Amino acid sequence: MVVAVDGPSGSGKSSVSRAAARALGVAFLDTGAMYRAVTWSALRAGVDLADGDAVAAHVRAVALRMGTDPAAPGVAVVGADGAEEDVSAAVRTPEVTAAVSAVAAVPAVRADLVLRQRALVEAACAAPAPGARAGVVAEGRDITTVVAPEADVRVLLTADESVRLARRARQDVGSADTAALESVRRAVVERDAVDARTTAFTTAADGVTTLDSTHLDFEGTVAALLQLVAERTGLRPAEGAAR
Ligand code: C5P
Repeated sequence: MVVAVDGPSGSGKSSVSRAAARALGVAFLDTGAMYRAVTWSALRAGVDLADGDAVAAHVRAVALRMGTDPAAPGVAVVGADGAEEDVSAAVRTPEVTAAVSAVAAVPAVRADLVLRQRALVEAACAAPAPGARAGVVAEGRDITTVVAPEADVRVLLTADESVRLARRARQDVGSADTAALESVRRAVVERDAVDARTTAFTTAADGVTTLDSTHLDFEGTVAALLQLVAERTGLRPAEGAAR
């Protein structure tokens, strides 16, 4: 059971996908965190991000461990000695956010990470964690089109730009006043404009259902996604699952 969710920044795709995965008792895969983690690693290593070959070579050597439990997702970079460095917080810094689009635009980086993402999706279906159901809710920019185009449920989660800006401002700055909106504009609008040259996440591909959350609150959006999953697959929230 694979649910693929794509959408622009601030659409709520991470938190909504995570809550849906939790309710369904399946795994959760945040593919943006993978692009962020390899970007964090390239920045730390001082790789010239304008040199696509150097970036791709660096990324190929970066081992990641993705936490796919929706109750405790996270990402760690695994060193040559096997030691894990938890970078879940480090990948959310403005420095990484500002640099990630350039890394994600390198075709060889995408090819590499798409293969890793498909392997994680397959593992979540074939060998679920103890107590979990087989399946995954995977979210990003190209899940419905490239990573898992055969997914059982394919959703483009959207919201009007002003709503996305306000959500991101409240989440990152703690307020949605004019100054807060201005401070997140770059991380939302400008990043989406750059990302849109690499991935198609602003219009739904054939067979992809658009879920517009402009007039929905968080719970309402999760419920709408779960409704789509139930209609398409018959799968309903697991008994006693956290919501
Ligand atoms: O979703 P999030 O904002 O964490 O994604 C970070 C960045 O990773 C995006 O701005 C985009 O450049 C890249 N990305 C991507 N394809 C995905 C997921 C994320 O190119 N499937």
